[in-house]
Amino acid sequence: MADTPKTLVRRTPWPVSSSRAVVTPLQPSVVYASASPDALDDQYEGRAQGYTYAREGHPNADVLAQKIDGMEGASGGFILGSGMAAVTAAMLGCLKSGDHVLGGDQLYGRSMRMMANELPRLGIETSLADPTDVAAMAAALRPNTRMILIEVVSNPTLRVADLTGIAALARDRGILLAVDNTFTTPRGVRPFDHGADIVIHSVTKLLAGHSDVTLGYVAARDPEVGAEMLGTSVTLGLTPSPFDCWLAERGLYSFELRYDRAEENAAALADAIAPLPGVKRVLYPMRSDHPDHNRAVHLLNGRGGAMVTFEIEGGRTQTNALVQAAENIAFAPTLGDIGTTLSHPATSSHRALSPERRAALGLGEGVFRVSVGVEPIDLLIEEFTKAISAAKHA
Ligand SMILES: *Cc1c(COP(=O)(O)O)cnc(C)c1O
Repeated sequence: MADTPKTLVRRTPWPVSSSRAVVTPLQPSVVYASASPDALDDQYEGRAQGYTYAREGHPNADVLAQKIDGMEGASGGFILGSGMAAVTAAMLGCLKSGDHVLGGDQLYGRSMRMMANELPRLGIETSLADPTDVAAMAAALRPNTRMILIEVVSNPTLRVADLTGIAALARDRGILLAVDNTFTTPRGVRPFDHGADIVIHSVTKLLAGHSDVTLGYVAARDPEVGAEMLGTSVTLGLTPSPFDCWLAERGLYSFELRYDRAEENAAALADAIAPLPGVKRVLYPMRSDHPDHNRAVHLLNGRGGAMVTFEIEGGRTQTNALVQAAENIAFAPTLGDIGTTLSHPATSSHRALSPERRAALGLGEGVFRVSVGVEPIDLLIEEFTKAISAAKHA
């Protein structure tokens, strides 16, 4: 048999087409070849635009970042490999040894661990205060406080932070205010409009919306702060995969439809389960019995979001029975999927807390959080009614 002709490894050129693809191309290339050392110099010195190496940036990340920038009223935001990578970028890009960071006292579990374990190892002081109470936040500031990190709506208690008050406090004291907007999304609130300096997202959740990528996003009001965070992220290797960015962009096109439908479902589900026997309480920001109802109405423009938390009577026997009876709902510790998911904070997101601390937050064994999806509402109500009744009779 004749040998095939020898060639250098060179990719065949992309086929020419006089029509254009309507979908964003996926570009997985790690490296980009330049025409000459002069051309590469121009790129590195900012005289010419271009990609060099995917850890430093790639087109699929930039397309996705620009889309989220548009939604948040931001510019220069960028994508990271996870929501926690975005939290890391904000923290390590802006803080140094000797600084203090004040966090809301109900942050996402891993953000809590960052405050408790990782930052102190680097000589960064941390503490927590209640973000629904601006006086408590003010009292917790120290002379070396450099950053405040809050979430607008807490998981799973759905308490609404005094974003406007905290933003004024941060501005007065020259402190960076970072807002993790994962839960509320720009459809609920745009933190930059209220004075935030940094906005963080776990794109994994509602924005991408299909539970098939982990990604994060961070943007800063001040381009210098943005550049610091980006530099840190590229060095630490926090940057994302092109395919994940491509999938998330695809998910983002239906974000507004998904969000509006899920929110409408959440409001209806909250009202449907509140009167059921065996239900102790239901938390939803747009219900008048919610502790932060008035603030939610103003800050969230009347939007309650896609999460509903409820508590049933009884113990583990009842919670096991509820999950088993809700056979068409995934019992999974995440949120923001297109389908409804159910989580049990005491055994998942809040299992690291002591039972006393959980009790203080009102997160006993009977508490569930529903991340409401886009299903027909009558089916959702039927499923939860059946499950709550099974728990009551267990
Ligand atoms: C999930 C989540 C994160 C972390 O995001 P990952 O993509 O899982 O790393 C951060 N903040 C909030 C509010 C979240 O819900």
